[in-house]
Amino acid sequence: PLAQLKDPSLLKTDALINGEWVGGAGRFDVEDPATGELLTHVANLGASEADAAVTAAQAAWPAWRAKTAKERAAILMRWYHLLIQHADDLSRILTAEQGKPLAEARGEIVYGASFLEWFAEEAKRVYGESIPTTDPTKRYLVLRQPVGVCAAITPWNFPLAMITRKVAPALAAGCPVVIKPAEQTPLTALAAAELAQRAGMPAGVLNVVTGDGEHSVAIGKVLCERDAVRHLSFTGSTEVGRILMAQCAPSIKKLSLELGGNAPFLVFDDADLDSAVEGAIASKYRNAGQTCVCANRLYVQDSVYDSFVAKLAAKVEALKVGNGFEAGVTQGPLIDDAAIDKVERHVADATSKGARVITGGSRLHDRFFQPTVLADVTDDMLCAREETFGPVAPVFRFQTEAEAIQMANATEFGLASYFYSRDIGRIFRVGEALESGMVGVNTGLISTAEVPFGGVKQSGLGREGGHQGIDEYVETKYLCLGDL
Ligand code: ADP
Repeated sequence: PLAQLKDPSLLKTDALINGEWVGGAGRFDVEDPATGELLTHVANLGASEADAAVTAAQAAWPAWRAKTAKERAAILMRWYHLLIQHADDLSRILTAEQGKPLAEARGEIVYGASFLEWFAEEAKRVYGESIPTTDPTKRYLVLRQPVGVCAAITPWNFPLAMITRKVAPALAAGCPVVIKPAEQTPLTALAAAELAQRAGMPAGVLNVVTGDGEHSVAIGKVLCERDAVRHLSFTGSTEVGRILMAQCAPSIKKLSLELGGNAPFLVFDDADLDSAVEGAIASKYRNAGQTCVCANRLYVQDSVYDSFVAKLAAKVEALKVGNGFEAGVTQGPLIDDAAIDKVERHVADATSKGARVITGGSRLHDRFFQPTVLADVTDDMLCAREETFGPVAPVFRFQTEAEAIQMANATEFGLASYFYSRDIGRIFRVGEALESGMVGVNTGLISTAEVPFGGVKQSGLGREGGHQGIDEYVETKYLCLGDL
């Protein structure tokens, strides 16, 4: 798939440190999850290169922060336009290493790029404050300044967007960055870095340190331990988030964590059922169920339960599973064998405890799993507690609004929730009662660069996107002017 790039020079296999492409001693394999074929080998860097990247970023900081916001914005905007111009090649690279259908990959390139456009604009609006004084001889001012070197550790499910969502606000605020992309999907990150170079990013301001799973742990340690790194942003599992948070404790780093979810999707009896089914498909089956905001638990009110399940199953049966490069495919492979094992485990556990398979239910071949709907699911099943991260929709039954809210909130996670209702009173009651950072009301798609994305409870800390997104990367400084 990578032989057909219009601009083959976007296929980078070395890491980027201080404006130089760095090969390192070893290499690791990047494979196509749809076929298991080797795509290429990427530089397998470790602790010493991570250290060098942090030092380069630290050295680049004074000049980067000294630029005007407008100058930084111009570079971000050039990078944005380059990503859009090369969207075809970037989508191919993304589908090759990640597996999602080409049209979805293209959607991610446009979405990922949009964070650069948004934060290029926001760069100019990092306003301070002047506070009315209580002492005539004094004046109180508040400045907002870049926090310093930022590290970003990112996952494989959105190989571009999870990077730009962190890096764009950091750069806009005046912070240099060191990125550690997921070992499964380094190629999209490196292609984006090549375009950042072409956009005029100064050496050391944007560094990408690649490594395999084992080396990622060593690289992560350096990023957490170095004092010079003042902020760590991570998207991935809650388990790894906890490790990184502990590793950052000695140096008291600022942290943004976007961790696991276990999103409830509630359908009330006053909902527009067809619209609820559309929303469930969009939320559940995007990226074959591999997003942290995918509906993980569907709760449907008793009186509409059977008709919702039947309508959902009919739509699910129309999904097309296959290689993401094939026309018409809507469901690609899962990322690796562990991912498909987990989905199989969740389905087996549910059916052994009484759930009914309405459609799908098993592995097709290799890493491809049938889009699945399970009915009569109950809260003693694994899929009620854990994120399945695959194309399985478990449908639970509820009787009352209070019961639905209680079931939805019965999780340590709190990233996204969704519900369908046409009753304005219910929309406010339920919207306010759900314990999550984001709530989709009569929609299954909520992500966009202009809004604050993030979770409560063990789903994380901080917000990405929106005007709030830049707050993570600035420190508030109070200036007291006396003797006036
Ligand atoms: P996922 O379950 O989505 O693969 P992970 O949390 O395992 O999520 O991985 C997300 C990112 O965190 C990847 O870039 C991975 O390399 C990195 N990572 C995993 N474990 C560690 C660790 N102990 N230290 C630093 N980075 C890690």
